Amino acid sequence: MTRSETLFEQAKKTIPGGVNSPVRAFNGVGGSPLFIEKADGAYIYDADGKAYIDYVGSWGPMILGHNHPKIRAAVLAAVENGLSFGAPTELEVRMAEKVIEMVPSMEQVRMVSSGTEATMSAIRLARGFTNRDKILKFEGCYHGHADCLLVKAGSGALTLGQPSSPGIPEDFAKHTLTAVYNELESVKTLFEQYPEEISCIILEPVAGNMNCIPPIPGFLEGLRALCDQYGALLIIDEVMTGFRVSKSGAQGHYGITPDLTTLGKVIGGGMPVGAFGGRKDVMQFIAPTGPVYQAGTLSGNPIAMSAGLAQMEALCEEGLYEELAAKTKRIAEGFKAAANKHGIPLSINYVGGMFGLFFTEEENVTRFDQVTQCDAEAFPTFYHGMLDEGVYLAPSAYEAGFLSMAHGEKELEATLAAADRVFAKMAK
Ligand code: PLP
Repeated sequence: MTRSETLFEQAKKTIPGGVNSPVRAFNGVGGSPLFIEKADGAYIYDADGKAYIDYVGSWGPMILGHNHPKIRAAVLAAVENGLSFGAPTELEVRMAEKVIEMVPSMEQVRMVSSGTEATMSAIRLARGFTNRDKILKFEGCYHGHADCLLVKAGSGALTLGQPSSPGIPEDFAKHTLTAVYNELESVKTLFEQYPEEISCIILEPVAGNMNCIPPIPGFLEGLRALCDQYGALLIIDEVMTGFRVSKSGAQGHYGITPDLTTLGKVIGGGMPVGAFGGRKDVMQFIAPTGPVYQAGTLSGNPIAMSAGLAQMEALCEEGLYEELAAKTKRIAEGFKAAANKHGIPLSINYVGGMFGLFFTEEENVTRFDQVTQCDAEAFPTFYHGMLDEGVYLAPSAYEAGFLSMAHGEKELEATLAAADRVFAKMAK
């Protein structure tokens, strides 16, 4: 037994499923999860001391690579002054100013401690501001685990929400409408059905929780127009895409202006952080200036603010996003070329610093149903082949892959050479 396997067995005795977040349990690929001891640059190291080239990056935030010296130094300096005050700090002001500078649609911003809190709070604000109860989300988009957002469509293309988990009353879920990502018609139909009841649309501007699905041309613009027509707010959930797809998020990349934006992991540089913000008239509706309540003991925590600020400042370096996008293109196209060489059907998507691999004959994957129809056996085989080769991908066919600035030519080449060997075996 490896040390990771031993730790997993031990963990299962005291932690449900042995993990503190379900996808970490490797249920999507089978086998036993790696327990991680440390990480540095493009590499993570497991409890058995084996190094892996990491394409998970703590599920997104490690854009600069693990254990970046500037972030580490900022955290260590902040620790000297105490861990939490529960009172305003200058750091929070600087963080708000930095976020607003980078994402111009955000005129004001409120810090929270996770992506879930950010989306949950933004939804409450949208409902309070519009005085409407329903929200519209897309099947396959994940926005954290708040009750109203843990809802997916039934078997039809459009349906009233059904809870995705026991514990969510149907009375709550019925206020969540679910449409088809990249199909504007499905959204139009819902607005026609509920013209004065929908408070907001919330979406991932590049869907990264159903692998990696960029918006097709006109989709985001169409959503903006429908929101304007029906008096609903557009919430762009950039918890994953913010400062990963471009310096100003996916909204900057695609030139779309939401009313509210949610941010998460990336702005904490690895510390537990989230934020929501947007139009000043809407944000003024939040307590203490407005009637919509929202709060947090650890919100704006000084250690998290220090890590986040150091990361955001480093991300403003000239040419960084061009380089990140070029690395991502190289790895995604490289995977495809290696698969083609061995006759393995593989489709790819990539944008900014994120990519997706789909084991399918389909040339373009733009919809959730196409993702669910991919070859369910191929991914786990590929996954474990790559893991054996020392490459750590997200342990699920429904997650995007992430590049960092620490991935150099050596790591990219090693990854593609590994993929070539794994595809060769799969072709046999
Ligand atoms: N929104 C998106 C787009 C996410 O990808 C996630 C998490 O992966 C969340 C919200 C929830 O964030 P957290 O896990 O920090 O609660």
